[in-house]
Amino acid sequence: MNPSLQGIGMTSLRTRERMIKRLSEQGISNQNVLKLMRDTPRHIFMDEALASRAYEDTALPIGYNQTISQPYIVAKMTELLLRSSEHLGKVLEIGTGCGYQTAILAQLVDHVFTVERILPLQKKAKTHLWDLKLKNISYQYGDGNLGWPDYAPFDGILATAAPSEIPPLLLLQLAIGGVMVIPIGPSGQQILQRITRKTSGYDIENLEAVTFVPFLTGKE
Ligand code: SAH
Repeated sequence: MNPSLQGIGMTSLRTRERMIKRLSEQGISNQNVLKLMRDTPRHIFMDEALASRAYEDTALPIGYNQTISQPYIVAKMTELLLRSSEHLGKVLEIGTGCGYQTAILAQLVDHVFTVERILPLQKKAKTHLWDLKLKNISYQYGDGNLGWPDYAPFDGILATAAPSEIPPLLLLQLAIGGVMVIPIGPSGQQILQRITRKTSGYDIENLEAVTFVPFLTGKE
């Protein structure tokens, strides 16, 4: 095993167990999500200088003006996505970032299709996910506003950046019965939404106030 995967000191299993306890106290109840977050090293997705803070309940910089989502948000969004069905086949993720959310998803669903608009971030994420031997992931360097039509429809869509409104092409790429979890709104006024596609139309639930980086247009 790659030595950085083993974890020492502040990156050890004990630190992760403390994180899990905190997540349960914050209301995360899906045992599969909690177990995976206990077993998946989060620090390897971050720069060495910040690795010792990887399990704090906070978003941290990953370069290029982007942040790794805080553990609570990763857990919450994953739990919301899974609540829709016992088994998810294909999931589309917009905003690969450092790849940590991707790692959690890939261990819970059949296949993750992940789109990122900043190429160096995508490359780093790929390396880390490969180190963890997660191979049920397809990567696209592109603009998430377009989704990934070649593989649509998706049973789940998860976006880790906030647009001002739901990108229409993502709505179209959701399977009937499928669920999208996405933060919506301008900086300072974002709300996490869960959108379920019905036989005709969509159900939209407003869940909680959140803080995400903006969902941008085009590639960098
Ligand atoms: N889940 C990631 C979150 C990273 S921050 C993590 O925990 O690391 C959000 C990410 O969304 C950034 O990497 C940003 O580049 C990406 N992003 C923003 N707008 C996008 C778009 N239109 N298409 C694809 N990726 C986008």
